[in-house]
Amino acid sequence: MMQLKFYPYDLRFDEVFAVSANARTGTEIIYVELTSDGQVGYGEASFPPYMKEKRSANLDFLAGLNLESFNSIDAFEEIRIYINTFSNCLPAKAALDMALLDLKGKISNSPVRSFFTNETAKPIPTSFTIGIGDDAFLMRQLKKAEAFPFIKIKLNGDVNYVKHAITLIKSTTQKPLGVDFNQGIANSILALELLDWLHGQGVQYAEQPLPEILIADFAWLKENSLLPIFGDESIQTIEDIESKHHLFDGVNIKLMKCGGLTDAYQMVKLARHYNLQLMLGCMAESVCAITAAANLANLFDKVDLDGHLMMTNDLFTGVTLENGHLLLSTAPGMGVEKKLSAL
Ligand code: MG
Repeated sequence: MMQLKFYPYDLRFDEVFAVSANARTGTEIIYVELTSDGQVGYGEASFPPYMKEKRSANLDFLAGLNLESFNSIDAFEEIRIYINTFSNCLPAKAALDMALLDLKGKISNSPVRSFFTNETAKPIPTSFTIGIGDDAFLMRQLKKAEAFPFIKIKLNGDVNYVKHAITLIKSTTQKPLGVDFNQGIANSILALELLDWLHGQGVQYAEQPLPEILIADFAWLKENSLLPIFGDESIQTIEDIESKHHLFDGVNIKLMKCGGLTDAYQMVKLARHYNLQLMLGCMAESVCAITAAANLANLFDKVDLDGHLMMTNDLFTGVTLENGHLLLSTAPGMGVEKKLSAL
């Protein structure tokens, strides 16, 4: 018999994290546990403000599920079909998908990544993300970023801030830089001016420069920009790749947006079909969801899995960090364990 347990939890950050639209000191999550055949599978749902998914609605969705009618993990496909008969609640569906795969891996004695790739696990180079802030903040973050091979810088539509922050960061590090506007630029004319300047500075890509509703502006910007543009807020699910792939050079795929590893894997295949570059991203989330995503890392061109590094009260252990690279355990399942203090 399949038993589902879930509980809300509040993660706290070590510093205020600011992007173009908001600043936060923590994030709401839900942890999920699925028990069957004496094994426990873990999962996590995270609720970033822009997704409009509310934790309360996702808790209600989980409370309404009846998984006890499924006898074992052999019903993996049937369980997924049952879960997807309900609409929305993609973070909770992502958590359930993680827990199902974790359980399937533990029961079949296989690491979860082996369900998606034949390649052996290798260290995963990840970028370190720096939020918006004053000079002292940027310098503190650059210090934290020292071991990482790539840096992603959060920017807004303020020309002065963009030029000041990039000039300061480039005076301190020669690492490859990417930028993320989180929809922060008001129109395509200003966006092109900023992207051209960033291209001249050697920046490698820009993520989501414009609000997702500006479809025609995105099309014009892609035609005219020399800098590769990645869609993040614009591309949440596989349907968005189908309808918007022509607007972007790449896509940032995240488990919380699409409903889990199984859906992310389908997105990878379709994005490759459209020759999109692939970035594996994350929300502010704990090492549980980060480790889940790391199981797909081999399939991506760029990995940005650093959301867990700012958490001060994580309940899990999972991927470890060595020289800016994430290391997955070789244990069966996803590779996460609940901390003893949390049991
Ligand atoms: Mg982004």
